[in-house]
Amino acid sequence: MANYRRGIPASIIKAAFSKAGGRCAFPECQPLVLDNGTPLLELAFISSLAPGSLRYDPGLTPEERAGIGNIIILCPTHHAYVDKNPEKYSAKTLRAIRETHFERVETALSGVESPGTTSRRLTDALKIWEDNRDNSSEQFWQEFLAERPEVLILALDGRAYTLSSRCYVGGKSIHNSGGNELDFLAQYGGNVALIEIKTPKSDLLAPTKYRGNVYAPSRELAGSTVQVLEYRNSLLTNLPNLAFHTPGLRAAHPLSVVIIGDLEREIASEDQRRSFELYRSSLRDLKIMTYDELFDGIRMLASAWAD
Ligand SMILES: [Zn+2]
Repeated sequence: MANYRRGIPASIIKAAFSKAGGRCAFPECQPLVLDNGTPLLELAFISSLAPGSLRYDPGLTPEERAGIGNIIILCPTHHAYVDKNPEKYSAKTLRAIRETHFERVETALSGVESPGTTSRRLTDALKIWEDNRDNSSEQFWQEFLAERPEVLILALDGRAYTLSSRCYVGGKSIHNSGGNELDFLAQYGGNVALIEIKTPKSDLLAPTKYRGNVYAPSRELAGSTVQVLEYRNSLLTNLPNLAFHTPGLRAAHPLSVVIIGDLEREIASEDQRRSFELYRSSLRDLKIMTYDELFDGIRMLASAWAD
């Protein structure tokens, strides 16, 4: 991690990337992406932290300089471009570019018919989470996430995407049976994410110790991870055919995500937490996120948007 990030809390960095929708602030910019689909982006300071450096503003307090209001997200090329053209790209101009970018992200998040509603939608989503934390209906959560795709933005590391629910990802026989239907498919840039959801009430771990101080994943957690990997396999196998019927579908390196459980409420002991973290960190190309982690992120995003 570069030196210029020193002293900036991780929560601010994450909120800055989320608020930017995981995109460079320059419109239509297509930054290079890594093999796993992550776009190459950098955090840039609008007014630099040290006197004598680029766009330094003595009128800012140290807190303002290190705050989210002084950060703009750029790809490495545009970052170098603005730094080499300080007359053209003053702090004032960069702030204007940043504001226009936020408006674009917000429009993409909330739909063209209701721009300016992101903060309220995120706050509403948090309220629904607090009221339904014990709701064990998979259909409820499926409909909730289908209606509020912005909630999934954190599971996808803040990337801007288009979401489809109940997606067919191949696997049907010529008799049109045995098709694979995924909960959500998110398309972004040159890649896709496959998302399988359970509920906050789904267990993360088996109820009793496996042996010693080790807990096994629950049947639902192990089952849903294999399920989403099976969908991924099916998508890759059937990609030429699916892409033919789905304009714009590209899947260089599909990411798989399972959203399940409530870490804070379920995991009581250090042994349980360690077993769970060891299990999820061992999985390649697959991300396990719990509902409480998802909504902790939404809380952070909602406060970033309220600024
Ligand atoms: Zn760029």
